[in-house]
Amino acid sequence: MICQACGVEAPTRKVQFHKHTGMLIVMQHGHFGGNFCKRCINKYFAQFTGWTALAGWWGMISFFITPCVLLWNTGLYLTTLGLPAPAPGAAPPQLTQEAIDKLGPYTDRLFSALNAGRPHKQVAEEIAGLAGVTPMQVLLYINAVIEASQEG
Ligand SMILES: [Zn+2]
Repeated sequence: MICQACGVEAPTRKVQFHKHTGMLIVMQHGHFGGNFCKRCINKYFAQFTGWTALAGWWGMISFFITPCVLLWNTGLYLTTLGLPAPAPGAAPPQLTQEAIDKLGPYTDRLFSALNAGRPHKQVAEEIAGLAGVTPMQVLLYINAVIEASQEG
């Protein structure tokens, strides 16, 4: 739900892109992955695949590794085509005053569910649906309330 690359709250997919650099004697291989949103998948696919297509070929072994890397990245990219893009204006979740106002009436219900030992994620999704905020905002709200109670 949270993109590990840019932090935006959006549908994500677990991916790992590879990058290969061929050189006459040595070679470099790198990869980068995690649960990424569509925007980041597009970005890292283009970066890693473009780099490999240009810089991958320049070595005996690299010459054979490079097509594998290109195929891997492209195949992986194709599997993510159905992933919805982040909503326009999607941003890392923030606890806005609006979200606090919306969550206020549900505070008792929220904490009694947590005190009953129900998983945070499940409670957050339920309350998010009721209050019209996102589950991450509910989790941020929980932290904020707990911090406020510890200060007092
Ligand atoms: Zn992202």
